Amino acid sequence: MIIITGDLMIDQYGRTIDYMRVSITNRCNLRCIYCMPPGFSFPAGDPLSYQEILRICEAAVECGIRFIKITGGEPLLRDGCPAFIARLKKIAGIEKVTITTNGVLLTKHLDALLDAGLDGVNISLDSLDRERLKGITSFDVLESVMEAVYESVKQHINVKINAVLTGADQERVLLTPGMRREWKELVELARHVPLGVRFIEMMPIGYGRSFTGSGNDMLLDYLKAEYAGVERDEQRHGQGPAVYYTIPGFKGTVGFISAMSGRFCAVCNRIRLTADGFLKPCLCYKEGIDLKPMLQQDEEIKRGIEQAIAMKPYSHCFDRVQDAEEPHVLEQDPMIAIGG
Ligand code: SAM
Ligand code: SF4
Repeated sequence: MIIITGDLMIDQYGRTIDYMRVSITNRCNLRCIYCMPPGFSFPAGDPLSYQEILRICEAAVECGIRFIKITGGEPLLRDGCPAFIARLKKIAGIEKVTITTNGVLLTKHLDALLDAGLDGVNISLDSLDRERLKGITSFDVLESVMEAVYESVKQHINVKINAVLTGADQERVLLTPGMRREWKELVELARHVPLGVRFIEMMPIGYGRSFTGSGNDMLLDYLKAEYAGVERDEQRHGQGPAVYYTIPGFKGTVGFISAMSGRFCAVCNRIRLTADGFLKPCLCYKEGIDLKPMLQQDEEIKRGIEQAIAMKPYSHCFDRVQDAEEPHVLEQDPMIAIGG
């Protein structure tokens, strides 16, 4: 059962659902090893048109969605993304529209995105070591991504860096001289620049299953050991599950998104729309509602959204993924097809 009261949508576990991630393409100009490794072929099928996505977003806002994150694939690869964001921003009831991007095309589109009214940008950046980033993404992109980071900050838009640390095992990832430098270099970005550097734990989705990644609980211990005066920042930084910390003398903050070590399902406020119109109530499960056949009628779309919310599980089951206890219900698609 779900309750829609006034302008709130509350699921059967009492969670307010007000945030929707909207993927506008499955395509990408990079090949991050844990998301879309070289040789991966794009999922078949056309994405929804912008008009179709807009109708779903309008229906979602009527149900209670207030915050939209545009994602992909790489959303800035799709023509017309800024104009689409401008249309989203005009929907009455929308509070914020933000985007997550690998940053490669961001400088080129920044003015248009700001004109469209974009409220914030997340830039994925896993390492500040040029060769290492090339090894992760398959392309030499450090310079263009850093230009996008600094240009965005200069424009006073809210900037967050998202880093997924990759490595063979936790201890090694955090302690070997190379990796130790890697997370610390990322943290140091926040020293002089007012942005949030966030570490996202690797989730066993798609190709992410082949990586152990690094646990944020351990990384937080290292952060505290390395910097004096690290303190939890109680200020709200957005609509997501990140937990932030301040460091004396730093203009920015350091955040942790810990789906694995810090299971935040009890406060999960989100649903996900894939580029081909499938609405997923939880990242971990295959389950969801295909909204494509419902696109003729706004009332049908709203019913589809409510059905998806009613399916939203109490929590993810990533810890069972390796045992494949329930392979029929677990999400097998790579992250690029979902949007993160
Ligand atoms: N291309 C855009 C980007 O890179 O920000 C948007 C799509 S990407 C799928 C969204 C986010 O998902 C990125 O920050 C990426 O690092 C993250 N991601 C991909 N696979 C992941 C995994 N298995 N576990 C955790 N995060 C993952
Ligand atoms: Fe592309 Fe983003 Fe996936 Fe990297 S994480 S392959 S940039 S969609």
